Amino acid sequence: MAKIPHEIVIPSELRPADGRFGCGPSRVRKSAVDALASVATTWLGTSHRQAPVKKVVGSVRAGLSELFGLPDGWEIVLGNGGSTVFWDIATFGLIDERSAHFVFGEFSSKFAEASAAAPHLGAPLVVESPTGSHPDITATAGYDTYALTHNETSTGVAMQLRRPAGADAGSIVLVDATSAAGGLAWSPSEADVYYFAPQKCFASDGGLWIAACSPAAVERIEGVHASKRWIPASMSLKIALDNSRLDQTYNTPALATLFLLDQQIQWMNAQGGLAWCASRCAASASVLYGWAEARDWATPFVSDPAKRSDVVGTIDLVSAEDGGVSANDVSAALRANGIVDTDSYRKLGRNQLRVGMFPAVPPSDVEALTACIDFVVNQLRN
Ligand SMILES: *Cc1c(COP(=O)(O)O)cnc(C)c1O
Repeated sequence: MAKIPHEIVIPSELRPADGRFGCGPSRVRKSAVDALASVATTWLGTSHRQAPVKKVVGSVRAGLSELFGLPDGWEIVLGNGGSTVFWDIATFGLIDERSAHFVFGEFSSKFAEASAAAPHLGAPLVVESPTGSHPDITATAGYDTYALTHNETSTGVAMQLRRPAGADAGSIVLVDATSAAGGLAWSPSEADVYYFAPQKCFASDGGLWIAACSPAAVERIEGVHASKRWIPASMSLKIALDNSRLDQTYNTPALATLFLLDQQIQWMNAQGGLAWCASRCAASASVLYGWAEARDWATPFVSDPAKRSDVVGTIDLVSAEDGGVSANDVSAALRANGIVDTDSYRKLGRNQLRVGMFPAVPPSDVEALTACIDFVVNQLRN
């Protein structure tokens, strides 16, 4: 008799040390939370305009510059609202007249929609490819801003960042790196704005946006500001830039989020920087994809191995109708055993598991997860 998913009990020796495999919010290291608890009465609940908090913001900015190896002249800018708000901020403060978007999933499509809806901008160019792949990055005359996505979290597709060859002089490249930043390698020579939020590789909470900005991007921010376009103050990159330079944010940030973010950046740099993080995520990914390829009931969703993400793994399962099992049942059984957030991105509508393999997740836990999935599938089938 096939078992009811939530009644399946996975033997404790198979289980990962930590059961959190979500793609955001994602696993927060316990030692970072312990460090936060240790400053419960001296740091939490204190003014963000005073030295202790400014010091942490300064540490975040310096730590990210180190992690990414940013050249002189690059700046880390931050503010409240997360990556979704940053899309609106970019339509106000970065796109001059018209942007070109490369769309291959839910997140990349949303920025294109934000640009299309902005009444002060011309119609964007949208280059789309089927989910599970990504479009070729090409230049088109007449566009001043290119929007790329380093890792499409809804599908588990990653791209090598490259500036579109032959783009108009003065054009800039914006990269949504929300789930990639800190887990995938990139070169600052291929981007002008590399933006993200702290709830993925940076193992903190959501609600902040962070943008690494090249000198060309800073020039664009100043230029758009000088054009006297109407920009709400909370959406103004110029105001955010001026505040960031003083290690502050325009309005009150969440102090716990900033603290956990700083802990994670310090940990990443101490372990060996971005190269260490990227190789750890690659090791996890090779465990996950290698396991799926060795099962006749599982397949990596992204068919081209070069486009498979090292931070967000998507695995299709053979459906129950075709003699396999329901991925929702697998996720439900895992959840009943404390292994959470392996569900696929709903709108993709596939019989799929999605696994966050950010730097806070050790490859050994991904290995244990695959053993748990084997166990659950076996129980569901028999
Ligand atoms: C999670 C995610 C977002 C949305 O981030 P929020 O901070 O929730 O706005 C945007 N883009 C990508 C690629 C993401 O993974």
